[in-house]
Amino acid sequence: MLMRLAFALICLTLAPLAPAQQRTDTAMPPPLTLRDAGDSVGVVFPASVHQGALVIGKVPSAATVRYAGRTLRVTPYGSVVFGVGRDEVGPLQVDIKPANAAMQRIQIAVTPRDWPVERINGVPPATVNPPKAIAERIAREQARVVAVRSRDDARASFAQTFIWPVQGRISGRFGNQRVYNGTPKSGHSGMDIAVPTGTPIKAPAEGVVTFADLGLYLTGGTVVLDHGHGISSNFLHLSRIDAKVGDTLKQGDVLGAVGATGRATGPHLHWGMNWFDVRIDPLLVLDRK
Ligand SMILES: [Zn+2]
Repeated sequence: MLMRLAFALICLTLAPLAPAQQRTDTAMPPPLTLRDAGDSVGVVFPASVHQGALVIGKVPSAATVRYAGRTLRVTPYGSVVFGVGRDEVGPLQVDIKPANAAMQRIQIAVTPRDWPVERINGVPPATVNPPKAIAERIAREQARVVAVRSRDDARASFAQTFIWPVQGRISGRFGNQRVYNGTPKSGHSGMDIAVPTGTPIKAPAEGVVTFADLGLYLTGGTVVLDHGHGISSNFLHLSRIDAKVGDTLKQGDVLGAVGATGRATGPHLHWGMNWFDVRIDPLLVLDRK
């Protein structure tokens, strides 16, 4: 279990892999199409979503909304958000109870994605299976990150159009199945962008800094930016952190600089996103229309 947790955060630069263009990825799902799923009560959700997607729906503002065992926070304008896990098969069920109408259940189909295998050999065995003391340190640090991801703030910055935190080649994609020295590990938890050490990292959307620590074992300099309603971004392997816990950053504000700290084989930005403990794909968030 500890190892699974540890590897969920691992991020290695994969320079030899095929380079990917930022906007010409044929594997990218098409834009979502919205439908009016609830006619008279104004409930709007996508009819289908992709694994790893961030999903925003509209409901009457006084409605109670349940999804995946959670009651979703509803904005004053009636927006709700949730994330779809990498391995979710659907159909998803969202229960909406407007203030003055009967409960209705929306079903959303999940379109599966292809998860290529990345084989990474020659990794030092001690980093694949760290000794007990290191494994315990990793677990403690992971627990601190998990704790800040459990926040459910009323801020609704998740609804902004996200921008790239740095501009560069994608060197590692969300969800790719990684095999270290022949041992299958978790899917890649975020997106790697290969850029030089020192490159300023911009907040992709407004948020509050909920975690900032330069010295985590696996992830090195680590910042978590909370966009509200359980949606957060994490930025790993930083060489410098320019923000502190509690700071409110506007979109484009610099939060730190790219590095290769923690378990990284070269400078790059790992940008991960979460809906609470569900990891979602930043590339889908960037491409959301
Ligand atoms: Zn990574």
